[in-house]
Amino acid sequence: MAVAEALRFPEVRNYIKGKFVDSNEAKIDVISPLDGSVISKVPISGYDTLDKAVQSAKAAFPAWSAMPIKERVQILFNYLNLLHKYREELTELIHLENGKIRSEAVAEVDKAIELTEFAVSLPQIIPGEILEVSKGVDCKTERIALGVVASITPFNFPCMVPNWTIPNIIALGNCMILKPSEHVPLTANRLAEILTEAGLPPGVFNVVNGTRDVVEAICDHPDIRAVSFVGSTKVAKIVYRRATGNLKRCLALGGAKNHLLVLPDAQVEMTASNIAASMSGCAGQRCMAASAMVGIGNVDHIIAKVCEEARKIVPGDNLGSVISREAKERIERYITEAEKAGAKILIDGRNPTVKGAEGGFYVGPTVIDFVKPDMAIAQEEVFGPVLAIMRTNTLDEAIAIENNSPYGNAAAVFTQSGGLAKYVTEKASAGMIGVNIGVPVPREPFSFGGWNESRFGAGDITGKSSIEFWTQMKKTTIKWNPEARTNWMS
Ligand code: NAD
Repeated sequence: MAVAEALRFPEVRNYIKGKFVDSNEAKIDVISPLDGSVISKVPISGYDTLDKAVQSAKAAFPAWSAMPIKERVQILFNYLNLLHKYREELTELIHLENGKIRSEAVAEVDKAIELTEFAVSLPQIIPGEILEVSKGVDCKTERIALGVVASITPFNFPCMVPNWTIPNIIALGNCMILKPSEHVPLTANRLAEILTEAGLPPGVFNVVNGTRDVVEAICDHPDIRAVSFVGSTKVAKIVYRRATGNLKRCLALGGAKNHLLVLPDAQVEMTASNIAASMSGCAGQRCMAASAMVGIGNVDHIIAKVCEEARKIVPGDNLGSVISREAKERIERYITEAEKAGAKILIDGRNPTVKGAEGGFYVGPTVIDFVKPDMAIAQEEVFGPVLAIMRTNTLDEAIAIENNSPYGNAAAVFTQSGGLAKYVTEKASAGMIGVNIGVPVPREPFSFGGWNESRFGAGDITGKSSIEFWTQMKKTTIKWNPEARTNWMS
């Protein structure tokens, strides 16, 4: 039997000018991390294919940007309805190509729906301002689309992260290229079909697949005006430097190491269940995951409860797989190194057995106590269902550990004291802070984005802040009374 016939899904094709197009570029396997099987193949495209997509977006831009925003969002209303209609199908695709459990996959689709709800509300949010600035002279501001823009996305949210950008970019009148992660191209392609079914004109939305070459081509292409990137800090730095070096606007979100500061007075059940859910949700592959807990004083009773909660998390049941064999090996290496460096493993998730999914890439929930701040597991992003617990005597020592991290996506505090909670929210060096919440994700209309090495560029990627990123402001000054005297500025 030919290889193509054995694949669960047809080979992925790039989506350019409203059509899926064949490519003679090299292809790599798309592997389901649930069982290690090859489910499709994805082209590794380069500059020439990207250029075709850019030309299609460029050709679509004049008509699309000239359409009033209230008309453009009618298509997004259709898209919103279709996301509801295909909710189950998208859930299954995400589950298969990413490995997260179905309840997490469906939450991603629901989040894409919420993001689109924000985008359809943009006509109510973006009206400019007008003011009579001197007698008979008005100044007016408007938000104008940039042109062709690109969005580069990671593997961990195949539906949500592309939808951080797609609805806002196109509602605001831009045309775009999506470069999804090569690990999860199937959901992105399905989104292209859904946008077409919603009535989006050809060329407004294009998908070009690939890895490093196409990302570099995006940073270099002279007709791309702005680039958003979501992924690891290592690549975020490369993309930010290269795109801005080519005089593009760039917003590059990177990795994270999120600290949960736990005080002895914290409410035990709530704190433990929040911590266990935060460290293990999406198998720890969330940029908002709690990967480091800092216990202040005696929090043994809370750690015991965290372990009780973590023991209820079962790989293959309520815990999905990690994305690849390499990811599994990396995560397990961090655990082994921490053990060798003297940390105490309370729950060991290395090499779990998952009946019926022996080829899957699973790591069980892992809780490690007495981690020292200078250990790799305390400093680096592990991106697996692993909680590293550090202990301090004082709150200020705990805050110093959080502040010393090069990252700054999220931080949270668990306490029943309002004063201490406020102190931590003021001192923590992170863009998203939680009080008694393990995953402090701001929801629309608030904006998502970290600080420090978790985000390069100004502003945030979602919500109101993203409007600034995807548009430029035009200021028009109109003199209605030509007989009026000129003054020094007119
Ligand atoms: P990644 O950096 O490996 O890949 C992200 C994108 O960059 C992919 O599309 C990939 O094809 C491309 N890419 C990979 N290597 C490249 C290179 N050398 N040059 C140019 N492009 C390259 O990230 P990932 O493994 O897909 O995703 C996980 C990472 O994303 C984690 O670090 C996680 O914290 C981060 N993340 C951050 C946020 C946030 O909001 N800050 C959100 C989600 C994920």
